[in-house]
Amino acid sequence: MHIQSKLPNSTTSIFTVMSGLANQHNAINLGQGFPDYQMSEELMNKVYEVMQKGFNQYVPMQGYMPLRESIAANVEFLYNIKINPDTDITITPGGTYAIYTALTTVLQPKDEVIVFEPAYDSYIPNIEINGAIPVLIDLKFPDYKIDWNEVRKKITAKTKMIMLNSPHNPTGAVLSEEDMKELSSIVKDTNIFILSDEVYEHLIFDNIPHQSILRYPDLLQRSFVCFSFGKTYNCTGWKLGYCISPAELMKEFRKVHQFNCFCCHTPSQVALADFLKNKDAYLSLSGIMQQKRDYFIELMKSTKFDLLNSSGSYFICAKYNRISNEADKDFASRITKENGVATIPVSSFYKAGTDNKVVRFCFSKKNETLEEAVGRLVKI
Ligand code: PMP
Ligand code: GLN
Repeated sequence: MHIQSKLPNSTTSIFTVMSGLANQHNAINLGQGFPDYQMSEELMNKVYEVMQKGFNQYVPMQGYMPLRESIAANVEFLYNIKINPDTDITITPGGTYAIYTALTTVLQPKDEVIVFEPAYDSYIPNIEINGAIPVLIDLKFPDYKIDWNEVRKKITAKTKMIMLNSPHNPTGAVLSEEDMKELSSIVKDTNIFILSDEVYEHLIFDNIPHQSILRYPDLLQRSFVCFSFGKTYNCTGWKLGYCISPAELMKEFRKVHQFNCFCCHTPSQVALADFLKNKDAYLSLSGIMQQKRDYFIELMKSTKFDLLNSSGSYFICAKYNRISNEADKDFASRITKENGVATIPVSSFYKAGTDNKVVRFCFSKKNETLEEAVGRLVKI
């Protein structure tokens, strides 16, 4: 049989590759982003309880209504905006799926989408599979800030969407109020949509306020805002998230969603509907993760890696030019095999493989894991 690839340039995701290599060589995995500690006992028990109560059949395709109501209540508390849980929220099987669905909802062949690189690995294939064209703009190394003048220059009559991600994977950079003003001035009076990937909304440090699109009604009217429960509740394997957008956009999003997944895992939605009311469970997250970042920074001082700034997410990047001038993929692969620590080479987040000789570390790990890993890294 001959199959014509719809994604001829795609290979296996770097997360699968590096986690596979870590397992094969028994390395400590600071590559793929997931916590190595247990999620909330209370939330796990709730899932079991609701399964026993009989919540094991389909929910409506939009998602379990009490969960959407809890999300709307939290959004109002956090961002001071009322969104309609009936028309403006859809529960999805993870943030990645929400992003794919939003892109598929909007994109027509040959449309252009502005993507900042380094970019999360699913964005470009998700654009290309829809026949659209990613228009790439580098975040300015080493701060990974957006050059808005470059954005202005790259906008054309075909620009359909701008994709944002704050806090940012892989760099931990975050958008500022100034960035949001620039964005507003650029999209004003245009028909450009925004896709805002906010899966790390609660993982932001140093008391920096998260610049959610939800704070900006003018931007929200043209946006799909994507979230992930996996990141917020330490359960990345649950693959559950949601998208928020204005009713007219959400109506179209749901047309795509209902014939793909239809509806998500019922017991976790029922359990989360209740668990979301516990504000402390998500408000405490940035403090916990900031401590982990700071602890990792402290430990890494005794190595030859030079850490860059991270203001959010699970991640912090590091230059390794005092150790080696190998390409980042070779370096990451070699230290996994020889030194027993897996990372992610940041060139994987660039379509052209731009290599600034930087690797990404994930610090959402037990202190002992970080200690053991750095114990190995000091020897390099
Ligand atoms: N966007 C970014 C930037 C991410 O890092 C992740 C985490 N994998 C996702 C989206 C998707 O999250 P999920 O696992 O819920 O699909
Ligand atoms: N978001 C996680 C990361 O960046 C992993 C996602 C995945 O494995 N697809 O590491």
